[in-house]
Amino acid sequence: MTENVVIIGSGPAAHTAAIYAARANLAPVLFEGFMAGGIAAGGQLTTTTDVENFPGFPEGIGGPELTERFRAQSARFGTRIHTETVNKVDLSKRPFRFWTDEQEGEAKTLIIATGATAKRDDIPGTRDGELWQKGVSACAVCDGALPMFRNKPMFVVGGGDSAMEEAGFLTKFASKVYLVHRRDEFRASQIMQDRARKNPKIEFLLSHKVTRVEGKQGCETVHVLDLKTNIERPVAAAGFFFAIGHVPNTKFLDGQLACDEQGYVLTTPGTTETSVPGVFAAGDVQDKKYRQAITAAGSGCASALEAEHFLSSH
Ligand code: NAP
Repeated sequence: MTENVVIIGSGPAAHTAAIYAARANLAPVLFEGFMAGGIAAGGQLTTTTDVENFPGFPEGIGGPELTERFRAQSARFGTRIHTETVNKVDLSKRPFRFWTDEQEGEAKTLIIATGATAKRDDIPGTRDGELWQKGVSACAVCDGALPMFRNKPMFVVGGGDSAMEEAGFLTKFASKVYLVHRRDEFRASQIMQDRARKNPKIEFLLSHKVTRVEGKQGCETVHVLDLKTNIERPVAAAGFFFAIGHVPNTKFLDGQLACDEQGYVLTTPGTTETSVPGVFAAGDVQDKKYRQAITAAGSGCASALEAEHFLSSH
C-alpha cells in the first residue's frame, strides 16, 4: 500500500504536520524513531526541562510532557505512529520508498522533520548520568531562565554566533557569564562579537579549554585551562552551556536532497519544498537560525498544507 504522507520525526514539526495531515483525511504515518541520534522520541525538547516560551502554557510545561501532548494530539486524529527509525529512503522516483529495521514502504509525499542534534564535547562531569541536565545544557534559550541559575555565574563554551547570542541571553539571569573559546579569534560575525564585548557581564576566556565540571546536585565548579600558559584554575559557576553548533539529522538521506555545506536541508524560501518535488522539510532539519519549538511547529503546519496541495494537484 502506498501511503499518502509519511512523516519522519517526533518533535513539534513532525507532530504538527501529522495533526494537519490527519485532519485533512490524509491518514498520515509517522516514524518517531527508536533512540534515533541517541535521544528518545520527541527530539531535543525531551532534553530540556521547563519550556516557558511555547504559547498556551502560561505556567510553563516540561519538555517531555509537551512532546507527549503533541504525540497524543497526532494520535487522537488517527496518525499511525511507529517507534522505528527510518534508516534509508529512495527519492529517485515516485512513489518514494523508505526502510526501517522492521519494514519498508512507499509514500506519495514525505515530510522530513528529523531535527538537529546539539553538539556536546566529551568533558568529564558533563556526561549523561553526571551533570548533564543538572546545570549542564546545550540550550541557553531552553534552560537559562531556570531559578537555579539566577544571579549566579555561568559558562558558555563556543566561539560562533550561537555562543555570542547565548552568552548575551544568559546575562539576563546570571551574575556573570564566562565565554570560553578554544582559539584567540572568534568565528562569530563582527556584530555579534561587538554586542558581546559591550556587555559588561560577559568575560571572555580566549585560548581556554574546560577540562572538567564538578558539583554534587548541580554544577558548582568549572575547571579552565589557559592554553597559552598551561595554567589550570577552578571557577565557581552554577551553569554550563555548550554552544558549539548543531548537526542536522540528515545522514539517512544519503545526499538525495540538496543540503547546505553543514547538511541542513535546503528549502525554497517561504515554503517547505525541497529539491525533490513531493518531499518537504520542516523544523530544525532545515532551520539553523531560529531553532525554536514554535517555529518548528509553524513549519510543520506549512509542510502538511503543502503536501496536501501537492497530492491534490498530482
Ligand atoms: P558555528 O558557527 O559552527 O560555531 C561553533 C563554535 O564552537 C566555533 O567557534 C567552534 O570553534 C566551537 N567548537 C566546535 N566544536 C568545539 C569543541 N569540541 N570544543 C570547543 N569549541 C568547539 O555554530 P553556531 O554558532 O551554532 O552557528 C551555526 C550557524 O547559525 C552559523 O551560520 C551562525 O551564523 C548561525 N547563527 C546565527 C545567529 C544570528 O544571526 N542571530 C545566531 C546563532 C547562529 P572554532 O571557531 O575554533 O572552530
